[in-house]
Amino acid sequence: MVPMIDSHLHGIEAVPDNYSDYGELKRMVSCVAKADEWDRQLAIDDPRMIKSYGIHPWYAEDWTLENKKRLFDILTNDPAAQVGEIGMDNKRGQILGQTMVFIQQLDLAEHFNRVVSVHDIGCEKMVLESLRGRKLKAIILHSYGSDSYLKPYSELECYFSISPRLLSRSDIRVKRLMDAIPEDRLLLETDSPNCGKEFSGMRDFAERLGNIIGRPADELLSLAEQNLGRIFG
Ligand SMILES: [Zn+2]
Repeated sequence: MVPMIDSHLHGIEAVPDNYSDYGELKRMVSCVAKADEWDRQLAIDDPRMIKSYGIHPWYAEDWTLENKKRLFDILTNDPAAQVGEIGMDNKRGQILGQTMVFIQQLDLAEHFNRVVSVHDIGCEKMVLESLRGRKLKAIILHSYGSDSYLKPYSELECYFSISPRLLSRSDIRVKRLMDAIPEDRLLLETDSPNCGKEFSGMRDFAERLGNIIGRPADELLSLAEQNLGRIFG
């Protein structure tokens, strides 16, 4: 069996019943959204889990001086800790506050040379501008879906993490986006526990995606696994 990864999930949450092959994952990138989740994630003992810490744009008010110091300490103490889920969202919260919180967390990730996991809803241009010119280890664009920004993002160290959410689009649109993603930048994620009603497992997701774009599921799974391996070593 081809090894499977999940490039974005929330490891402190219970794994939903429909994530049938969670136990088979070789590695997963776990993110948190709020500061009160950091200690819970720290306590998880799963060698497969790559842990990312940050403040999600929905909870930007959590970015206090105290929490900034805590994140600094977590990154200092654990060289394997990454930064996420951070980003911007024009559908929820205030953009001005989110921008500052996003930028300051990017500064920390750059300082420590860590990978960032980025949430972006409707703020592609601002996110792109915030990432440009930075020296980041890698950028995982979580639940990616924008055709028009694929090219400028791929000129940075960006990886396109595709979630089952994409399957709600027409086959033509799914294929257009997937065909445009460079092979060495594709990742597959679930955003577990928010995998969606239709979801029944990572392998099934890869199969459905593969059917639409005319590629074997194993090929997609192993591409994602190799790409994640390149990011995290
Ligand atoms: Zn998420």
